[in-house]
Amino acid sequence: MKLIENWFSERYSDNLQLSFRVSDQLLSVRTDFQRIDVFETYDFGKLLSIDGTVQLTEKDEFVYHEMITRMPYLYSDRKPENALIIGGGDGGAAGELVKLGLKSIVNVEIDGQVVEVCRKHFPSLASSFSRKNVELIIGDGIKYAEKTDRKFDMIIIDSTDPVGPAEGLFNEDFYRNISRILSDGGVVVTQSGSPFYQPKAIGLAHKGMAPAFSFVRSYTAFIPTYPSGFWSFTMAKKTPIEMREETLDPGQYFNMEIARSSFSLPEFVKKLIA
Ligand code: SAM
Repeated sequence: MKLIENWFSERYSDNLQLSFRVSDQLLSVRTDFQRIDVFETYDFGKLLSIDGTVQLTEKDEFVYHEMITRMPYLYSDRKPENALIIGGGDGGAAGELVKLGLKSIVNVEIDGQVVEVCRKHFPSLASSFSRKNVELIIGDGIKYAEKTDRKFDMIIIDSTDPVGPAEGLFNEDFYRNISRILSDGGVVVTQSGSPFYQPKAIGLAHKGMAPAFSFVRSYTAFIPTYPSGFWSFTMAKKTPIEMREETLDPGQYFNMEIARSSFSLPEFVKKLIA
């Protein structure tokens, strides 16, 4: 008879947490940058956590990965041909860009061990790194944006929360470099946290982007395993944020109605940005 039940919990505050009952802990490793864990959960399939926070689960990763790629794709002035992803060591964002038909994708992830763990435990996502048109660079995205002379039609910041190695991915100097390497009419997008449990993140993203870009807007999506389930992304351009005339087929979450309506924000979120 099994006497002990095992749970993985992500702490949102001293008084609140989200817990998943798990059948197994598949890996726990401390890297030079962070702690990585993989659990087998009962209800969400495998779960990847970094420093105790949920990065993805097999069951709901599609929401995040569709929304962080298809929205900037449609809101670029021209059909994007190449893209830069900063973070994204699971390969999920790169995989979506491959599906969208981009010709070349550069993915800069700081922690090579995230990639190795995902190749082993999330092969359907990390297999995107084996595609001919995906170039994986293990390094700091902040330094890459500072040094590279390449230009990108679309830039996706698929990072951890704004602490540790990802802290600098929210500031003004970083976005000035992003603006320099973004093609005319191109789009940058970042994940900007839960407006309810991480109210500072969305404001930080706007503050970081606004000096380098004339147009900044946030959109939201429902991601059950992220804090509160209500998640934000923030997009910036030098030209108005208007959708290009192109219709994408529905994904599992994304469709063309969501492409238009997800910029509608509740009043409390508007106040966080103002
Ligand atoms: N979907 C996720 C979320 O919002 O929880 C993000 C997933 S992805 C695994 C985040 C990645 O960003 C991590 O693998 C982390 O190593 C990477 N990262 C953090 N700071 C970075 C930096 N400065 N340069 C490149 N990658 C970075």
